[in-house]
Amino acid sequence: MSKLQQEVAKRRTFAIISHPDAGKTTITEKVLLHGQKLQKAGTVKGKKSGQHAKSDWMEMEKERGISVTTSVMQFPYRQSLVNLLDTPGHEDFSEDTYRTLTAVDSCLMVIDAAKGVEDRTIKLMEVTRLRDTPILTFMNKLDRDIRDPLELLDEVEDVLKIMCAPITWPIGQGKNFKGVYHLYRDETIFYKTGQGHRIQELDVVKGLDNPELDKRVGVYAEELREQIELVKGASHEFDLELFLEGELTPVFFGTALGNFGVDHMLDGLVDWAPTPQGRETDQGEMIHSDDDRFSGFVFKIQANMDPKHRDRVAFMRIVSGRYHQGMKMKHARTGKDVRIADALTFVAGDREHVDEAWPGDIIGLHNHGTIQIGDTFTWGDSFKFTGIPNFAPELFRRIRLKDPLKQKQLLKGLVQLSEEGAVQVFRPLASNDLIVGAVGVLQFDVVVHRLRSEYKVDAMYENIQVATARWVYSDDAKKFEEFQRKNDHNLALDGGDNLAYIAPTMANLSLTTERFPDVSFRHTREV
Ligand code: GDP
Repeated sequence: MSKLQQEVAKRRTFAIISHPDAGKTTITEKVLLHGQKLQKAGTVKGKKSGQHAKSDWMEMEKERGISVTTSVMQFPYRQSLVNLLDTPGHEDFSEDTYRTLTAVDSCLMVIDAAKGVEDRTIKLMEVTRLRDTPILTFMNKLDRDIRDPLELLDEVEDVLKIMCAPITWPIGQGKNFKGVYHLYRDETIFYKTGQGHRIQELDVVKGLDNPELDKRVGVYAEELREQIELVKGASHEFDLELFLEGELTPVFFGTALGNFGVDHMLDGLVDWAPTPQGRETDQGEMIHSDDDRFSGFVFKIQANMDPKHRDRVAFMRIVSGRYHQGMKMKHARTGKDVRIADALTFVAGDREHVDEAWPGDIIGLHNHGTIQIGDTFTWGDSFKFTGIPNFAPELFRRIRLKDPLKQKQLLKGLVQLSEEGAVQVFRPLASNDLIVGAVGVLQFDVVVHRLRSEYKVDAMYENIQVATARWVYSDDAKKFEEFQRKNDHNLALDGGDNLAYIAPTMANLSLTTERFPDVSFRHTREV
């Protein structure tokens, strides 16, 4: 195996998807504890302590106790090197969350086992379906009174349309949570309370019929044997191929807070989740991760991560080849060769310089406004990776200046922020309005905040009657022209001059789509 193949084989790049409060932050802490990145779990982000509040923009996060930013964490686990891409996840979320999911090769879905499948999870799962990303599942909070485990699996199968293969099975719950039985290792692993902040010594009994089990958990032993019989009949067996196709998810039970079961999930990730996958180009070609020519794409741009460096950082997922400090790469959209002297990596929130990085890794490039979301960097060819979408915003506001003389700065600021993917701008063909569209409400505040601090313009929002936007296309030039003529009052250009239909109501949208069957109204647009 070449050095490149070895590095690829070692890597797993994943993200966590969940509904707010299901336990994503807590799992991240425990995962890093197992990855020996933290001396003590509980210091991932200053959610409560505010210790990573490094810039004024981040002040906002601190005030709200949430994380707007997406960071990247790399840690070793067993023989592997794991990249965990954190996604913002509170009441609010943004396109960054969605696009981060295009940069991973698998996802961990965390479910609060007392609640079951919640709506944010449904939405995020839809996004993972765009690429059939393999999903692992962690049923969390077993130290609380949870719902019936079999019912939980049924709900996941029904609502999320993915088959469930339990890998571990819980014994008891809440105050009586004893541990889990691992169906494939045929062993029971016991849970001990008060071990949340350290790696627990394994306490294991081999074999389901072992009388030792009866001694340890009493009546629960017989109950477990019956349940396992039932579970084996009623659920799916783990199947690697179906998992890799995104059709079946291995399910683990545990408690993140109690630091129990997270390691079983990590074992599954390392054993089964795919190594860094290739990506398709607009030439219809697949660039594989073991191709030794360098390539990568930008899925996120973030400003002002550190007040000492008032720059923007472009997050690039490496698709193929090796990055090394000082190398030259081609910025495909501009056609320019650039020398990258100082890429960054983000280890638990801190900047560290990297000399070398491999497929599946994320590096941060300093960006002075030339790099956009979706940009491809290559060894010299001029292709573009596909599959990094813009999502139709769901929230709209008209934006107005307090000082009307600053219209030019406002437009410049909005276009730049939309190139970054912070928000989307629409300029209606029939008026001089500027409409800001966002996927999450917090994006509006971020935009006003950044317009003020970076572009020196004071802006405010007004409500506007818009339900949704769709990018419109048609192969039939004549019909498209007719469509445009009849709907000019509802058409607008986005930040990249793409034509979009702005629907005042959902009823209007469905009527219009019916009336113009030759026009396609798309919910996503390739960047
Ligand atoms: P996030 O919003 O998904 O990042 O969720 P957090 O990790 O912040 O967890 C939300 C709340 O649930 C916090 O108060 C956690 O302490 C709590 N929590 C997380 N995991 C567990 C668990 O396994 N058991 C219990 N009882 N609480 C948990």
